[in-house]
Amino acid sequence: MLLKRLEMNGFKSFADKMVIDFVPGTTAIVGPNGSGKSNITEAIRWVLGEQSAKSLRGGRMGDVIFAGSDTRKPINFAEVSLVFENEDRFLPLDYSEVSVTRRIFRNGDSDYLINKQSCRLKDIVDLFMDSGLGRESFSIISQGKIDEILNSKPEERRSIFEEAAGVLKYKHRKKQAENKLFETEENLNRVQDILYELEGQLEPLEIQASVAKDYLFQQEELEKFEVTLLVAEIEAFTEKIAIQKADFVKNGEILAAMQAEIKQEETQIYTQKKATG
Ligand code: ATP
Repeated sequence: MLLKRLEMNGFKSFADKMVIDFVPGTTAIVGPNGSGKSNITEAIRWVLGEQSAKSLRGGRMGDVIFAGSDTRKPINFAEVSLVFENEDRFLPLDYSEVSVTRRIFRNGDSDYLINKQSCRLKDIVDLFMDSGLGRESFSIISQGKIDEILNSKPEERRSIFEEAAGVLKYKHRKKQAENKLFETEENLNRVQDILYELEGQLEPLEIQASVAKDYLFQQEELEKFEVTLLVAEIEAFTEKIAIQKADFVKNGEILAAMQAEIKQEETQIYTQKKATG
């Protein structure tokens, strides 16, 4: 992997498009104080995903956009691209050349791109994670950093060397794992809260379920009793009807006998009347 080119447009003091080609070997950029040398390293850190405006000597991220000068008006966006030769596929992308781009607009909108395709900041961070070239790596040592390293306490210096030795990516992974663990613990706590709440509802629900079961049982019993009662009533009525029918037949016979007797009596009266008359 070789750093081929840096392109800046509207970034800090670079109002016009500025392209720096890095040829094999050493490239030195010289210039008087305030001519923009540190702005170049900041442009590199920025495109690699730097999130701290303070470390870019600004108050907020929008301060990286060219703010105007005596002779030029401010402009509305800043864009930086870093282009790498990737013939050896050192960066895990199947391209011989890889470019990363970051853009920011005054209204706060911003974009990240890999080979001109929109992507997330995380994709850029992941792309450089194992390369030793990240926003927090020590491939860029800016002004003041050497003093900071020399004047730091031994334990702080140790962490600087650990980072430079490539421990950073493991630290990053550890942090991610810790965050995940923390999130999982939080979720577990929430689940436990829910469980506690549900446990509290368990007893009243059990009572309600038992009342409901009892109600269903009683209703079934009631239905059984009602059917039995109905059958008994039907049987009693059938029996009553049979008795009434038998009575009816019997009374019909009595009536017929009586009518025969009346007829006989009437015949007798008629015969007597004729004999006396
Ligand atoms: P030194 O050697 O003193 O550190 P340098 O060459 O590293 O200087 P820088 O600090 O990179 O220079 O550049 C500072 C210049 O960039 C200043 O002139 C400053 O006005 C200009 N500058 C920084 N931010 C912006 C901006 N947003 N818009 C316009 N100019 C800017």
